This record gives sequence, C-alpha cells and structure tokens, in this order.
Amino acid sequence: MELREIERRCREILRRVPPQVTVLAAAKDRAPAEIRAALAAGIKHLGENYVQEAERKRPLIPEKATWHMIGRLQKNKAKRALEVFDWLQTLDSLELAQKLEALLAPRGRTLPVLVQVNVGREPQKAGVLPEELPTLVEEIRKFPHLRLKGLMAIPPAPKDPEDSRPYFRAMAKLFREIKGELPPEEAEEFDTLSMGMSADWEVAVEEGATMIRLGTALFGPRL
Ligand SMILES: *Cc1c(COP(=O)(O)O)cnc(C)c1O
Repeated sequence: MELREIERRCREILRRVPPQVTVLAAAKDRAPAEIRAALAAGIKHLGENYVQEAERKRPLIPEKATWHMIGRLQKNKAKRALEVFDWLQTLDSLELAQKLEALLAPRGRTLPVLVQVNVGREPQKAGVLPEELPTLVEEIRKFPHLRLKGLMAIPPAPKDPEDSRPYFRAMAKLFREIKGELPPEEAEEFDTLSMGMSADWEVAVEEGATMIRLGTALFGPRL
C-alpha cells in the first residue's frame, strides 16, 4: 500500500484506541519502508512471526521500536530469536522456557514474555490449554531471567467480530485469576493482555485487551 495511506491508517487507529492500549503492528510480509511508515505515524511496537524475516528486516529499520516475536518459536531458533527480539509473546512450554533461561542467564539479560493460551482449543494452534496455564506459570516464575508480563491469545478466526467476545472474556478472566495469585511485585509486572487483531480489536479492547496486534488494518490486505 502507499506509504502515506499506511501513515494515515496508523494515525487514525492510534487516535481511536484508548490510551492504556498498546498498538502492535503485525509486520509479517511487509516491506521495511511500510514498517517505517507505521513507526513515523507513532507506532512503537512491531511483531514478526519468523526469526529469519526479523533478522533480515531489523537492520533496515533504524527507528527505535520494541520487536515482539508473535509466531511459534522452535527451541533450535531460540538463540537467534534472542538476538533479534525484545519480547516473546508465544511462550507455551516448559522446554522452551528452560532453553531461554539457559541462554539468558550467562548473558545477564532478562526477557519479557507472554504465555500463549490456546483459548479456542484448536488442535492446530499453539498455546497452552487454559487448564495447563497455572502449572506453566508456576514453572516460569522459577526462572529469574524470564519476566512474566502477561498472556497472549489468537482465538478462532471470527466470521463476525462478536464471535471473538467469549474467547476474549475467557482470556480476561484467566488474566485476572493468574494476576490475583501472584505476589504483589510480580502482579504489578503482569500487566499485558495481548489479544485482538484487525477483524475484532474493538471487541478485544471492550473485554480488557491491553495490547492489540494489527496487520491488515494498518497495512492493507496481504498480497
Ligand atoms: C498476522 C497476525 C496478526 C495480525 O493479523 P491481521 O488480521 O492482519 O490484523 C496478529 N497476530 C498474529 C500472531 C499474527 O500472526
């Protein structure tokens, strides 16, 4: 899409979204120039789904931004992911958490993470099932270099935005329950509920999202 149109859409969305909600630009398949247009319009968070694509694009995007891994992360790419990403939104196993902790500790670095929840119980989708979440949270809390910031979900693709509401509501409830069980300092850090995409972000915001991840709404249809 034309860069000026991307800038216009970004400004428009940023104006409509309540100030406590962060807009992340889901940048998969988008060119560096398109991503830079979004940053020029005031977007500060970028999401990429693949390590390799982020490695290729990040050097071409000098603007200050926080880069989030929003795709599935294989353990054998964890080291490279740490070099290119600032946040991981898709933590969903103890094995990956262990691998990350082992890489982070010697570097003296901490990584903000969200636990991905498979809230729609879709067999093909990543994420822990809701009933598995408390156990994984307990395990992650033992790793001093993982900063547990909250939860992330990708509900089933909606036909109508309202289709997503029960899933968002279920996520908000899980979020409150986990937060309520954490000691005060950790509860304060646990402040991010990443849910809502172009088709349903308004419903997500109504149900308590603190971060929405937008691709099409900012950049137009993917080619
Ligand atoms: C592509 C993608 C988005 C954005 O999708 P749109 O429907 O284009 O807004 C959000 N989150 C994740 C994990 C994605 O892969």
